Amino acid sequence: MSFIEHWIAGRLTAGGATRSGDVFNPATGQRQHEVALADPGDVEAAVAAAREAFVSWSQSSLSARTKVLFAFRELVNANVDRLAEIVSDEHGKVLSDAAGEVQRGLEVIEFACGLPQLLKGEYSDQASTGVDVFSFREPLGVCAGITPFNFPVMVPMWMYPVAIACGNTFVLKPSERDPSASNFIAELWRKAGLPDGVFNVVHGDRVAVDALLQHPDVAAVSFVGSTPIARYIHQQASAAGKRVQALGGAKNHAIVLPDADLDFAANHLSAAAFGSAGERCMAISAAVAVGGAGDPLMELVTRKAGEVVVGPGRDPRSEMGPVVTAAARERIESLIGTGEAQGAKVLLDGRGLRVAGYEDGFFVGPTVLDQVAPAMDVYTEEIFGPVLSVVRAGTVEAAIELINANPYGNGTAIFTSSGEAARTFQRGVKVGMIGINVPIPVPMAYYSFGGWKDSLFGDRHIHGPEGISFYTRGKVVTSRWPQVAAAPDASLHFPTAS
Ligand code: NAD
Repeated sequence: MSFIEHWIAGRLTAGGATRSGDVFNPATGQRQHEVALADPGDVEAAVAAAREAFVSWSQSSLSARTKVLFAFRELVNANVDRLAEIVSDEHGKVLSDAAGEVQRGLEVIEFACGLPQLLKGEYSDQASTGVDVFSFREPLGVCAGITPFNFPVMVPMWMYPVAIACGNTFVLKPSERDPSASNFIAELWRKAGLPDGVFNVVHGDRVAVDALLQHPDVAAVSFVGSTPIARYIHQQASAAGKRVQALGGAKNHAIVLPDADLDFAANHLSAAAFGSAGERCMAISAAVAVGGAGDPLMELVTRKAGEVVVGPGRDPRSEMGPVVTAAARERIESLIGTGEAQGAKVLLDGRGLRVAGYEDGFFVGPTVLDQVAPAMDVYTEEIFGPVLSVVRAGTVEAAIELINANPYGNGTAIFTSSGEAARTFQRGVKVGMIGINVPIPVPMAYYSFGGWKDSLFGDRHIHGPEGISFYTRGKVVTSRWPQVAAAPDASLHFPTAS
């Protein structure tokens, strides 16, 4: 058992260390680490380090920052496998999936490497006679990131490469359930030449989060997690006058039309519902089978789901690992039971799964529920486990209505061979990220990621162009260098162009 410390001002520190939390290996069910849970004094130390580092980092040249970003990119790239192991051991996801998460995070670093281009301003020559107007963007100061357990590498990477590239300094408060990856990343930043204090990690729970939300020197907060906490973060940070983006939970629907290739759709539905044991904010947790697609699709999906190999994340044969905690397993199993009691048909039941040699692991098998109705708990709740709920609908319009009636609006997908249906869908759904024959439409790093409705509070999506906008504020300069003799007389009327 090791003790996981904070990373403040370029070094590890136990801080006040009056409280700690347990970190489990979900495959074995064993407690493997203890993690420090920050008190307000630890948060104060991290913010102070970031505030001090901001003085010089914000003044560093674009070229100096680019060099550090490129070096960091190389180091992360060289450590993809090691990071995947760290993620798998604390989250439970299989190694190939964990490596995929690191790869998607790496793409954000690569995007941020283009900072000289991304931070270019605008220039209007001779906007008025002898007057030029130009704009540029400046960093905000100390930015905080509060992140969920399900992507311990990728989600923080949606934030800090962009924030740091823009000249900000950063305090990360990762999930206390899988904290180790963040300390590993801090070491890579140090090796890349990032000055001490630009990137800090405080581990903790609500106490640390509240201290960040209330700290007057924190200029901006990026949050990713469940909807109730996202709403809370948005309210608290806004009330404290901070810029805030708070990404919340999801209930992502995939519509399958009868004209789709049903084999293809079933394969992709199964992968999107059960990959990472359904613990993805972009997982497909609800399928809407339209018209005649229903019965054949159910047969194909259930067969496919039954073939998923469940096992420890470190075993290369495993396709799906355990869920993150014993409490998560109990909640998921209880929701399946409620679904059954409320009238859903359990076509495949993952409850009570025991994996040989890993009997204490937190495993739940793939579960398929048919004939789910919108009033059932399995439909209204974000289950966040390997459970696919299937609803039947008569038409594509009815399916779109169902999606739009849902409080979440993170991602959605359609399986069809009709361009017309796809276009009706893409224009009709009130959802931020849409896939057409693509079940998990996570945008590339040079686009921005974000949902609508209860899936995002705040007005900017994360990374990509909206990330640059979030982590900077604009200045517009109107300038004149008058030759005194040629200058027009000053006038008291409101300035207009001439
Ligand atoms: P969570 O909301 O429980 O925790 C997220 C973060 O908030 C953690 O750092 C945690 O320590 C902190 N936190 C927890 N309770 C808090 C409280 N009462 N006050 C202040 N801070 C608190 O989420 P989770 O279980 O770690 O992650 C799963 C959730 O995240 C799911 O709902 C999932 O959909 C969502 N998620 C959303 C996205 C997205 O892009 N929209 C991406 C990933 C995950």
